[in-house]
Amino acid sequence: MEIGRRAFNQGLVGTVAAGVMGASAASAPAYKGPNVIIVRFGGGVRRTETIADQTTYSPYFLNVLAKRGTLIPNLTIAQLQDVDTSHAEGTLNILTGRYKAYTKVGAQGLAPLLEPDEPTLFEAVRKAFEIPAHQALLINGEDRPQEEYLTYGGHKHFGVSFRSEAISLFRFKLHKFRRILEDNKAPENVLAAARKQLDELTAYDFRNTARDSSDVMDRFWDNWRGQYGDTGLKNPRGDRLLTELAVRAMRELKPRLMMINYQDPDYVHWGNASHYTRAIAIIDQGLRRVVETADSEPSYKDQTVFVIVPDCGRDANPLMSVPYQHHFNSRSAHEIFALLLGPGIARGKILDKPVDQTSIAATVGAIMGFRMQAAEGRVLSEVLT
Ligand SMILES: [Zn+2]
Repeated sequence: MEIGRRAFNQGLVGTVAAGVMGASAASAPAYKGPNVIIVRFGGGVRRTETIADQTTYSPYFLNVLAKRGTLIPNLTIAQLQDVDTSHAEGTLNILTGRYKAYTKVGAQGLAPLLEPDEPTLFEAVRKAFEIPAHQALLINGEDRPQEEYLTYGGHKHFGVSFRSEAISLFRFKLHKFRRILEDNKAPENVLAAARKQLDELTAYDFRNTARDSSDVMDRFWDNWRGQYGDTGLKNPRGDRLLTELAVRAMRELKPRLMMINYQDPDYVHWGNASHYTRAIAIIDQGLRRVVETADSEPSYKDQTVFVIVPDCGRDANPLMSVPYQHHFNSRSAHEIFALLLGPGIARGKILDKPVDQTSIAATVGAIMGFRMQAAEGRVLSEVLT
């Protein structure tokens, strides 16, 4: 089994190298459009605690940001057979513009490992334009290894050659253990532990792309390690960490397309409602910081479009034994929203008609100047000026 997997991976390494040499976007035009930052208002949130006036826990989002763009209060996830309203699934609806455009390639406990089988926004933008992998960035949550590899799949015309970089504590650990082994100065038990953990982390990496690293990303993580060390005790945690990584990435890597996968409202699975509402408030603060960074950094000021959208909603039935779940296909788990703002987007507008979650990908494609050919959702021309 192990030998088979290794041989399989080695075969893919060859493919990756050939892809980088041959099929990369070297001949594609330079990108001149706006930066796009997609914020997954994630871990599943309901309209009640976000876009409802009287009950919101995200006042900056609702009262300040929404006035700068077009709010879509009636975005929904379609009721279809076998469509689960959950995190990886919703993220792939957003990234591919389709439902069920993925294959289950494994599992981490109860969480499925999904791989997109239609092109994602990341693959499509890197195929259309000459944008390096570190400028098409996923910022991922700290305990979500099952969401590390959602940005590319096995599509024969897209896939690993057009993959994006991901930034997360998971990637930091890969870097750290690699450096510890390269330095080869630590005691043998530390080296053995590093080897073991590196193997565990790369087990999620079914297309074997995380083993190699670029100079740019190595420098990014060396800087991070220089500031925060190896213990994990100094750096921010949870969704605050995602905000920190996103702001740092904007300053050091200047991504043209970035997705921040906030997640912490999902801790409500353990049953405590205040975990949920507090996490929404922390995302709201994160949004403020990322938007203020975009408003002040020369590479982003007046040339950045934000697309803020949840992965899924949550149940609204207060009589359930464990409230706030999202796997039972209830109506409010399908009811979400979106906000777009920035240059080219109508200001102070509410698009008050039913819009499908799969329209996000097609619309981002239109904003950046490429077509999401496999997307089922339509381009939301009403939000564009
Ligand atoms: Zn969940």
